[in-house]
Amino acid sequence: MSKMVINGERVAAQDGRTLDVLSPVDGEVFETLPRGQAADVDLAVRAARDALGGEWGRLSALERGRLLLRLGEKVLAHHEELSRIESRDTGKPISTARADITVLARYFEFYGGAADKVHGQTIPFQQNYSVQLVREPLGVTAHIIPWNYPAQMFGRSVAPALAMGNAAVVKPAEDACLSILRVAELALEVGFPPGALNIVTGLGEEAGAALSRHPGINFITFTGSNEVGVLIQQAAAVNAVKCVLELGGKSAHIVFDDARAELAIPAIVKGIVHNTGQTCTAGSRLLVQKGIYPRFMEALAQEFSKVRAGTPDMDLTCGPVVNRAQFERVNRYIAKGLADGMKVVAEGRIADGVPSGGYFVKPTLFSAASHDSDLFTQEIFGPVLVSVPFEDEAEAIRLANATDYGLLGAVWTENGGRQQRVARGIQCGQVYINGFGAGGGVELPFGGVKKSGHGREKGFIALEEMSTTKTIIQYYGA
Ligand code: NAP
Ligand code: MG
Repeated sequence: MSKMVINGERVAAQDGRTLDVLSPVDGEVFETLPRGQAADVDLAVRAARDALGGEWGRLSALERGRLLLRLGEKVLAHHEELSRIESRDTGKPISTARADITVLARYFEFYGGAADKVHGQTIPFQQNYSVQLVREPLGVTAHIIPWNYPAQMFGRSVAPALAMGNAAVVKPAEDACLSILRVAELALEVGFPPGALNIVTGLGEEAGAALSRHPGINFITFTGSNEVGVLIQQAAAVNAVKCVLELGGKSAHIVFDDARAELAIPAIVKGIVHNTGQTCTAGSRLLVQKGIYPRFMEALAQEFSKVRAGTPDMDLTCGPVVNRAQFERVNRYIAKGLADGMKVVAEGRIADGVPSGGYFVKPTLFSAASHDSDLFTQEIFGPVLVSVPFEDEAEAIRLANATDYGLLGAVWTENGGRQQRVARGIQCGQVYINGFGAGGGVELPFGGVKKSGHGREKGFIALEEMSTTKTIIQYYGA
């Protein structure tokens, strides 16, 4: 059985209860996890609070940075082991898992290097006053992590928090805890003091809810569904703590008639099938200018029909989706697309020989005459791309913004003025011009607008999100 990490110890749940871990590849149980409850969360929050007042809290920024850098090295030293764990737990093709573990190490490297480079300010004020603005940790930070990129999101969330001197309590998703638990053990091995980084496993509505409501936390960061995001923000409100929410997207590619199709097509396919479409930043809508629509869709269909789904070891483009609920959800959306009269332009294939109990879905490319279907506005979280033609720049921007989400966007054109106008016209947190990247981009500030959430992660900006300022005003006499 896997163990949680609380106060530097590997522990079971206090009441001894466990959860089964099912393999996405065949639906069979292959591991068990502690089913942490409010009492376990409470222990973890106390351990984090004690760490702030103890050895962890006394470390300098340089020393915290060194620990993070060492953890980055340790992750690289265990790269293959962690990749195998991640792939087994989530069903990711092994190459995808390897790329994710590289990004995980990169978070520790980036924020390890940044820890001692966050400077305060001095502020000119009245005569004979000295005013300093110093950055301080928030305190105990709570991190609720989704299952789609467990290792990456763990790094993205805890590395800046630890760099700034917070003590973290993490609740991974019940479907994807194993890589996170292993990295927390590695953190102890490289010398993180007890309580600096705690992991409580369990169910969202038990351990997750208890963590988000705990009066001892000072901040929450959450990535996941809108429904749970609202609960998190309500819990944060009760304790008057700040929260950062990343609630997914319905990001659009806008392809103009002068676009370089040879660049756009592979990026568009990858942007929706990578990680089997279970990516908040997936490019899940495709808007193509009318004049090139038939030709472009034909070329795209050729590329899309090469997509293959298989087991992690087959290492094809897609794996299975993570669990039965996702499997049913994606298939429901595909059926809805057909019922809404959308045309299937291309399908990928599920490889021969995958186990029959596995959660494999068929990658599907749809085309529609209008943008009316739910498939254009709701997050599917699977390898399903919906396409529609548009007339001109104004219509493209209007359609791109015709969803409650606002996470990413992409514009494909060689016209410089249009690149800027469209990039500025799309309501979202990141826009690509003639490219598209999901995942990675550790250096690039990231987050949503509208119902995609608020707050920013990645880059230097995360260090500001995960800290606070104190203004020290000193009168030094005439
Ligand atoms: P979810 O329920 O929002 O799960 C996200 C995280 O929140 C998990 O760690 C989950 O734990 C935890 N959680 C669940 N209920 C909670 C509660 N009441 N209080 C505190 N924490 C709680 O998402 P899901 O059900 O796994 O997936 C549903 C849909 O959400 C997906 O189809 C997708 O559209 C979206 N989603 C988006 C992202 C993203 O990257 N933005 C990631 C994942 C899912 P447990 O998993 O243990 O319940
Ligand atoms: Mg859930």
